[in-house]
Amino acid sequence: MHTNHDAWVSYLDPPYNLHSMATELKSLFHLAVVIAVWAVASVSLGAEEDRWVAEARQLRAKHQVDLEELAAWCRQRGLAEQAKQTQDLLGRRDPYKLYLPVLPEKVGRAELPADAPADVIEWDTRAAKLGREQANELYELARRAVRGRRLSLAYQLVLAAIRANPDHEAVRRIFGYQKYRDRWRTIYEAQQLRAGKVWHEKFGWLAKAYVRRYEEGYRRNGRDWITAEEDARAHADIHHGWVVETEHYAVRTNHSLEAGVMLGEKLETLFRIWRNLFLRYHATDAQVVALFDGRSRVQRSQRFDVVFFRDRDDYNRSLRAAMPNIGMSIGVYFEQTRRAYFFAGEGYEDRTLFHEATHQLFHQSRRVAPNVGHRANFWIVEGIALFMESLRREADYHVLGGFKDERLHAARYRLLEDNFHVPLDELTTYGMQKLQADKRIATIYSQAAGVTSFLVFYEDGRYRDALVAYLNAVYDGTDKPSTLADLTGTSYPELDKQYRRFIEQSVRDDATGR
Ligand SMILES: [Zn+2]
Repeated sequence: MHTNHDAWVSYLDPPYNLHSMATELKSLFHLAVVIAVWAVASVSLGAEEDRWVAEARQLRAKHQVDLEELAAWCRQRGLAEQAKQTQDLLGRRDPYKLYLPVLPEKVGRAELPADAPADVIEWDTRAAKLGREQANELYELARRAVRGRRLSLAYQLVLAAIRANPDHEAVRRIFGYQKYRDRWRTIYEAQQLRAGKVWHEKFGWLAKAYVRRYEEGYRRNGRDWITAEEDARAHADIHHGWVVETEHYAVRTNHSLEAGVMLGEKLETLFRIWRNLFLRYHATDAQVVALFDGRSRVQRSQRFDVVFFRDRDDYNRSLRAAMPNIGMSIGVYFEQTRRAYFFAGEGYEDRTLFHEATHQLFHQSRRVAPNVGHRANFWIVEGIALFMESLRREADYHVLGGFKDERLHAARYRLLEDNFHVPLDELTTYGMQKLQADKRIATIYSQAAGVTSFLVFYEDGRYRDALVAYLNAVYDGTDKPSTLADLTGTSYPELDKQYRRFIEQSVRDDATGR
């Protein structure tokens, strides 16, 4: 969230309370039934598809047939487990979520046991070949889509490609990886390893020679070794806190070295996803084409500074002078110090971490105008942070969005049950102060989350590139209230209608288990 001019705050206050949540769930179920009945009568709204979307769809259909064939072959030979694994590659997906595969570090397919039957070996060979072919086709279409300025579609395609073949070199490069020994590493990771360091899940980057002593409870202090207790005393004050450096973050904390490492890892996950999702925000068209062609690499950015206090008291005490109402917040990003602040322990939430860190990423990944969102279009500054705060892990994926997410759930409820909707031709005129002074702020935030999700997912991401261009304009300060309508080529009243249809469709999809 956001209060005064340069502090971006997440408040304790949820947009609505848990009691109403239960009621909302019940009434939504009722609504789902009603809408499901209507659905039978309603006409498909199928918009005209452009050729890129059509090509991507054809490719997906073709791969589906190939995988189904292979699964059938497995079943004929009684390879139930392999049939299932093959089938899983088809993956039924929630169309309101973005799935970002968690990539394996190790190069190469998992090895089969030495005594694997001949049929299993054949299946593995066929599955690997299929994966390679699919990844190649997806990658080639992605490269063409980039030239057709369909970047978000290209990104979807390379996500599918890396899932089909996690060892596709060119696609790995787009995600910032190269081969180093038998692992996929970022350039930074390879540098660290070459310098004799290792990544330790508790202690972060550490000289390999120190690992054993760290695990025995000692800590390096200049040229000496001290105990972990002595080390903790030395870092008890935030000004003398540990500074944990990860690839893109420097986390200062007085909680513990381990907590700093854990926070740093979460922030790295957010960063890597954000960087690809908003590639066109921080890179030019030419840079993006070069990246997809393998002619350039992902550039490492400067480090982002984050402060992680031992607890809420320490956070309140340290920041009160800068922000008198700090006690109401659970995290904050200050533009003037270019730092995001959080605290450990009770009250900590990943959502807040991702929300404020998203504000920081948009503010600091390139030059931005002073007073972003002050004149108009403030809703999207919050909307995109509300969207990114839904980041979580589901099985082998990092996931964004989905109507089970509390913000989107609230958005749906507000629109369908309360009939609450600030028309876009009005909402886009709101600057920061106007929106913050509005009594309906919490509900408008829910709508902001909903409309952002609409721009991401509507009709297979038809507006996703426009959304990134909109964010570009807002952060450049070149935006007008009409910018979103101009970029989508769609009037605000029409977008309002489409948003409502999108939300209603999501309820129908829930009801039919699509
Ligand atoms: Zn915010």
